[in-house]
Amino acid sequence: MTEPINPVRNQLIEELKKSGFKNEQIIAAEESRACYGYDATRQCADPMLVLLPENGHQVEIALQLAAKKQLKIFPRGAASGMSGGAIPSDDGIVLSLTRMKRILEIDQENMIATVEPGVITGELQEEVSRLGLFYPPDPASLSFSTIGGNVAENAGGPRAVKYGVTANYVMGLEAVLVNGEVIKTGNKCIKSVSGYDLTSLLVGSEGTLAVITKILLKLLPAPEAVKTSLLAFPSMTAAALAINAMFKNQIAPSTIEFLDHHSINAVREGLPFTLPEEADTVLLVEIDGTSASVLAQSQKLKELFKDDALLMIEAQNESEREQLWIARRRLSPAIANIAPHKINEDIAVPRAAIPTVITRLEKLSEKVSLPIVCFGHAGDGNIHVNVMLDKNDPEQALRGHQAIDEIFAITLDLGGTLSGEHGIGNTKSAYFDKEWSPATIATMQAVKQAFDPENRLNPGKIFP
Ligand SMILES: Cc1cc2nc3c(=O)[nH]c(=O)nc-3n(C[C@H](O)[C@H](O)[C@H](O)COP(=O)(O)OP(=O)(O)OC[C@H]3O[C@@H](n4cnc5c(N)ncnc54)[C@H](O)[C@@H]3O)c2cc1C
Repeated sequence: MTEPINPVRNQLIEELKKSGFKNEQIIAAEESRACYGYDATRQCADPMLVLLPENGHQVEIALQLAAKKQLKIFPRGAASGMSGGAIPSDDGIVLSLTRMKRILEIDQENMIATVEPGVITGELQEEVSRLGLFYPPDPASLSFSTIGGNVAENAGGPRAVKYGVTANYVMGLEAVLVNGEVIKTGNKCIKSVSGYDLTSLLVGSEGTLAVITKILLKLLPAPEAVKTSLLAFPSMTAAALAINAMFKNQIAPSTIEFLDHHSINAVREGLPFTLPEEADTVLLVEIDGTSASVLAQSQKLKELFKDDALLMIEAQNESEREQLWIARRRLSPAIANIAPHKINEDIAVPRAAIPTVITRLEKLSEKVSLPIVCFGHAGDGNIHVNVMLDKNDPEQALRGHQAIDEIFAITLDLGGTLSGEHGIGNTKSAYFDKEWSPATIATMQAVKQAFDPENRLNPGKIFP
């Protein structure tokens, strides 16, 4: 069946073309629009129109025209978001920033990269590493997610324990407001305290405050060496004590990933090494820095856990390092063997609360009779919690949702937060008022109102 004519869309297309948009930058056909209506949450919508701007000026034009017609705008990077942040509404315009993918400058003297939002994170990392520089944020999606999406979600990764998250590297932004005006925030100065810190406000704003069109990113000198070790412990408590012991003994790992016993059992078969049967928790630890400090810290690590760890393997070269990472990398596909579906959340708790949260989640798993698999970033308290179920069974689906309610309640009770890295989007907005008081939410809404008084920029996200 052909789609009915949409006069607003047709008029907008005409105006866009008059303003310099090429035909191939305007996606109006129903079947092509569908490719811009989903994200990694598997929700999908059918936006009214999709635009592929190629520079900041075209973003300004798109927002000015949308403002004239009071239309909603949905910014979008690679759509790898896990909280529905890039899902449009049927009457909205998707602004896909993927064609704005130039690395504009790598300023080696000041160690700052200036990039457009559509640059793929891993590609920037490769580019700067050729110059001996290092961009540390390492979301597992780095081979396909964009820097713009990383900034909008304040993405993090395994290296956050030592190097922090995306916010720690954004020095300045250029962004287009909902009325089409351009703002600049921050600069190349290491120290800058002139006025409100709008850069920090825009980082993690999930596309709800402005469309980011240029990003200044701090770079570091690349570490000279890295050493990877895998350690197995008989309990989560023993593993947590081990992490504390590392910090107390001046070992500062760049990564401490953990796998709980469900995760271990899911990947155990086919690993290039044998995990002891009694292993309840596995830690993957990376130490980086100068060769001398890496050597000294690795020796200390071996000395510290030679009696307590059930197994300790230290990679001697890059291929052995890859072998140790196999257990972690195989996890997502491997847990699919436990049940056909999963509901996954990325809660975060203060690091010391990890053993308590895991114990309480085990009790919850018994209560709802569904396996709950936990793995993630033990160094920074960010845990990927996966409730395994068959969603086609209505009874299991109900218990799954009950489990999610309780997971968030347990997390908040322990001083944690709904999301460590994936953001709130539209999947967690119903829980937002469980974490924040009415006054706090009203303050955030006042900020939203100041940037976007008509609620046209990525509406339906974050707020309940
Ligand atoms: C397999 C997999 C692994 C993942 N691992 C991690 C991980 O380790 N750590 C982590 O933090 N996340 C992870 N994610 C989630 C996701 O990759 C991140 O949230 C990422 O930052 C999203 O980038 P994107 O380019 O895909 O953005 P999108 O999904 O397209 O958009 C995300 C949000 O950003 C907004 N946005 C995008 N570009 C702009 C812009 N230029 N201006 C304003 N707003 C914008 C959108 O409106 C939306 O709200 C993972 C996802 C997958 C599928």
